[in-house]
Amino acid sequence: MKRLLAYEVREPDEGHCCIIFANNNATARREGASELNVDWEGVEHCRRNPAYDLYAPGPVPPLVLIKDGWWFECHQCSRKIDEYMDNEDFDPDDCTPVASGQDVFCCSTCQARNHAERRANGAAKVALIELFEAKFPGCSIKDVHVYGAKLEPRDDGGGMKCTVSFLFPGARYGATYEYGSPELYVAQGDLPAYYTWRGIEPPAEAP
Ligand SMILES: [Zn+2]
Repeated sequence: MKRLLAYEVREPDEGHCCIIFANNNATARREGASELNVDWEGVEHCRRNPAYDLYAPGPVPPLVLIKDGWWFECHQCSRKIDEYMDNEDFDPDDCTPVASGQDVFCCSTCQARNHAERRANGAAKVALIELFEAKFPGCSIKDVHVYGAKLEPRDDGGGMKCTVSFLFPGARYGATYEYGSPELYVAQGDLPAYYTWRGIEPPAEAP
């Protein structure tokens, strides 16, 4: 296998860039366009950047890119992080960028806060699964989603916050349980199986 080479791909609208490791320019352009969410023609440039070859097959560590003049948004507070950050009016202890993998944080406080929120989110998911399984035994869970750090019902007019998508016995497509809602959302094609599962009479107007 040929060694992968580093290419810098840039889109013109917001000036976002990425480094792609590929065997040739065309592949790098295609993959870079997809990462930057533009199409092939929307790429401003795709050019070799041999300085990053040593990081093949990627990714290049974010802190290396920051030293080289790239900027990121803090994964926690969205503050702009660049090499000039410590020239701003911030406490110097509060503006030393740190990275966890590809996630970049403006300071260790943001990193700690993010990790704490992630742990709380994981614990809330476990609690939601326990609650769901107690309420609806015998189902198989497909996906669990908790927005934020605790279980809470949706705000007025807001989107779903804590949901479990699952297959009940006899279901082919699935259903969704929303924390705090008395209703289940059931795929149309699963309605007959749903009535059987719940042991209820289908409504008269159902086909
Ligand atoms: Zn931050």
